[in-house]
Amino acid sequence: MDVTEVEVKNILTRTTGFLKTVASHSLQPYRGCSYGSSLCGVGCYVQHNFWVTKGRPWGSFLEVRMNAADCYRETAEREGRWARKMCGEFGVFMSSSTDPFVPQEKKYGVSRSVLEAMIDVPPDQLILQTHSHRVIDVTDHLVALKDLCDLRVHVSIETDMSSIPGLPPHASSINDRFDTVKRLSDEGIRVIVTVSPLLPIRDPDTFFKRIAESASAVVLDHFIEGDGSQEGRRTLQTPLPDAIRAVDPDAVSLSYRDRMAEVAERHLPGRVGVNIDGFAGRYSFQADTKPLH
Ligand code: SF4
Repeated sequence: MDVTEVEVKNILTRTTGFLKTVASHSLQPYRGCSYGSSLCGVGCYVQHNFWVTKGRPWGSFLEVRMNAADCYRETAEREGRWARKMCGEFGVFMSSSTDPFVPQEKKYGVSRSVLEAMIDVPPDQLILQTHSHRVIDVTDHLVALKDLCDLRVHVSIETDMSSIPGLPPHASSINDRFDTVKRLSDEGIRVIVTVSPLLPIRDPDTFFKRIAESASAVVLDHFIEGDGSQEGRRTLQTPLPDAIRAVDPDAVSLSYRDRMAEVAERHLPGRVGVNIDGFAGRYSFQADTKPLH
């Protein structure tokens, strides 16, 4: 893993494309992701973004944006004014192309310092997206931020299987992530489990019941429609679909997502989101209708 310390000129990126319907800005405290060689990295949508990878293998590099918090402080008021005028509110999605809680966060504290800056200059909305239980380390910051802005913490738990044959281990165990979801929820923080990308689920009723007991809502995201390419073409080039198929051939189809959404709806009525709508907080799935997307 090649870790480099860098300075950036801008940390608040005005969103485009699908992400535009989720938040006015995205914020990446790192470039690259240390979890790229773990299970979630195999199908990670970001690996297809040449602008991020510059041709480097996904999981082989991490750029630490040392001045991210200063950059946020310098630009948040200006970007906030722009966002409120153009989008109705200043919303930040942190993060769409890295994980804010990579192991190096313990040493560098970039995400932590950005959250401190947000306590001083809050956005209207913050969506904190992670695959790691390590988000628990910033509980105090999140408790403060929930009173200052519309805060949602998204924790990805994409399966109930502790390992999937042929794939590397999870970066963060399923139990650790569920434990974090519960502990953050107990602090009054709104936590949503993002089942993204949806992998085979051995015992759907138990899985979604567990989510219902600890989270505010659930989002299901299948790589078909989720990875930004037609029919999941990008993900089909990775080893992920074959590994999914070997466990459950149905799970590579969109009908599997809809079937899982129906089970989820039984446990979390009115609190099931699908694909980009779910990430945006629109929990529109109904068992007897097609999801909106
Ligand atoms: S944590 Fe997120 S950004 Fe990092 S490899 Fe996994 S899916 Fe990709």
